[in-house]
Amino acid sequence: MSTAVLPKSLPKDLKTGIMKALVFHGPNHIEVENVPRPRPGYGEAVIRVTLTTICGTDIHILKGEYPVKPGLIIGHEAVGVIDELGPGVSGYAVGERVLVGAITPCGQCSSCLNGNWAQCGGTPVGGWRFGNTIHGAQAEYLLVPYAQANMASIPDDLSDEQVILLADIASTGFSASESADVQLGDSVAVMAQGPIGLCATAGAKLKGAGLIIASESNPVRKEMSLRMGANVVLDPKSVDVAAEIRRLTNGRGVDVAIEALGTQPTFETALRALRPGGTLSSLGVYSGKLNVPADAFAAGLGDYKIVTTLCPGGKERMRRLMELVRQKRVDLTPLLTHTFWLSDITDAYALFSKQQDGVLKVAVKINEPKPLKPGDEQR
Ligand SMILES: [Zn+2]
Ligand SMILES: [Zn+2]
Repeated sequence: MSTAVLPKSLPKDLKTGIMKALVFHGPNHIEVENVPRPRPGYGEAVIRVTLTTICGTDIHILKGEYPVKPGLIIGHEAVGVIDELGPGVSGYAVGERVLVGAITPCGQCSSCLNGNWAQCGGTPVGGWRFGNTIHGAQAEYLLVPYAQANMASIPDDLSDEQVILLADIASTGFSASESADVQLGDSVAVMAQGPIGLCATAGAKLKGAGLIIASESNPVRKEMSLRMGANVVLDPKSVDVAAEIRRLTNGRGVDVAIEALGTQPTFETALRALRPGGTLSSLGVYSGKLNVPADAFAAGLGDYKIVTTLCPGGKERMRRLMELVRQKRVDLTPLLTHTFWLSDITDAYALFSKQQDGVLKVAVKINEPKPLKPGDEQR
């Protein structure tokens, strides 16, 4: 029995072959399987993923509530190492650690040049490609489109775990206060403290809010909310949240109310909690009809502003967010409550979708795959 010794750097044609990935086959049907490994074209790069996570949106996909094509690799958050650079990508090196945002703007279309990066391509939500319109990050390798605009180099002193949540939920959560232009000392209410709501709470603190009031009934999330920066957490199961917010603000109402769940009741409570001229900053994903009750909207005469934000992406956004972590302005690692290997990711989906065992976010680690041997491509 002889063991072939493989050269340290494999010839390029052996970089084809297969990889493990989580594939969506249809509602409630996902599987980890062998699929073709991507190769970069012009302006693209391939990264070897080292850490990913599961988003609430992935659960909507799994349940068939958000349609994607069967056969798609899902997931849209990735930390990894550059494995291969396509032509036209400069300033990067193979082996470099990078964070890639969930939204991958091209940086050149009219939406991008208007500053609406997340709406890249001119269609709503067009900037969200991974695990939506192209293969996603719950895989050993990920093809990054518009790589020049979307790979952010990770400083050596930051771990994968410290930056993974910046790809989506932190960028989204923080953006609520940025879009609402929170001023120093503003009072801010945040409806629901799931992972995005918790990041919205942290974002309100980062933006210099005074009083931060959160609404949540889950005990684990209530506790984490205080840790992320809430001064008060109200339980919507036991109090009238809007009335209580008015009481806590001396009858005034909050300057900014953030909706972080995507339901009619939370949207309405956010509206009812606002002071006249206040801003409702919406992050939730709604389905069906969303009503604006005329009484809560002062019949349209209350000077209320309603703004929505889809996760800001791009490498400059990721660089800025990493700087917040690096300078210890925020620490998101407490949100990573569980760790799984990619091979067990379907167990992670089960836990995450049922919100069992106090789960907030799961870290999904990916082993360095074994080097390919000649003949592997045929498997
Ligand atoms: Zn997401
Ligand atoms: Zn664009």
